[in-house]
Amino acid sequence: MQNLLDLESLSTPDIENLLDLSQNMVEILDRPIKKVPTLRGKAVVNLFFEPSTRTRNSFELAAKYLSADVINVQKSGSSVEKGETLWDTARNLSEMAVDGVIVRHRVSGVPQQLADILDIPVINAGDGSHEHPTQGLLDALSIIQAKGSLRDLKVAIVGDVLHSRVARSDIWVFLALGARIVLVGPPWLLPESYEEIGVEITTDLRQALVDADVIQVLRLQQERQNSKELPSLWEYHLRWGITRQTLSWAKPDAIVLHPGPQNRGVEIDSDILDGSRSWILRQVRNGVAVRMAVLFRLLGGGLDE
Ligand code: ASP
Repeated sequence: MQNLLDLESLSTPDIENLLDLSQNMVEILDRPIKKVPTLRGKAVVNLFFEPSTRTRNSFELAAKYLSADVINVQKSGSSVEKGETLWDTARNLSEMAVDGVIVRHRVSGVPQQLADILDIPVINAGDGSHEHPTQGLLDALSIIQAKGSLRDLKVAIVGDVLHSRVARSDIWVFLALGARIVLVGPPWLLPESYEEIGVEITTDLRQALVDADVIQVLRLQQERQNSKELPSLWEYHLRWGITRQTLSWAKPDAIVLHPGPQNRGVEIDSDILDGSRSWILRQVRNGVAVRMAVLFRLLGGGLDE
């Protein structure tokens, strides 16, 4: 592994290895003193050209817990606003002897293009509607912690699949680990092409939730839709919202995931989000562990704690 651009092209052993390593990192996070010297002397750049709370801060903390130095570059305030291309920005930053670049961009494929021109590892922190590989890994890790493994679990992915890079990464990792996946949501937000890779598709929430072990609720990505595509939020909630009633259709021990940020009262009700079946905050914690594992794998060093 030289870069982490997607989960589609990772082998199952690579995925399993990263998840095992992430579980070790969870143990480091549980210690009173979390900082380990593993990446001392290394530096990474967080290049975030789209808004982010969890992912950006979680990469920064992951790097810091491993003792790497981190700089954050955002579009606003950088020379991109003066007309510099992203490629020139990235090349200049990499000349400052940094050891890795973490990039988020609204255009799919930008991390791959940076990997083509840079000779340091590139990590995709979410590109357009393409992939969000560390989110897929942290979702898988959360399910493994709750259920032991993904093998033969029924996972319902609910909502705006079309615009969701999270759904795309989830699909690859969940399939690799043996889960059965059902996509459910409004017909115009469900790409039919997924049927070709063995994913089930329905617009009927009840059908998707019956017997489900895991429910991954997606944010309705209003910023990526044209207004004609959008139903009223009230109608969306009525047909595809996760509420106490719709959750009762799933297995009694089904867990609820959401990658965040959430639209409370639209795709998920507050009492579910904050309730005992919600693994959403565990996902956030696991996100730091997964990003520590990815940085460790790509930037090298030994686990000399
Ligand atoms: N935070 C996730 C992402 O960046 C999910 C979302 O925004 O809905 O893709």
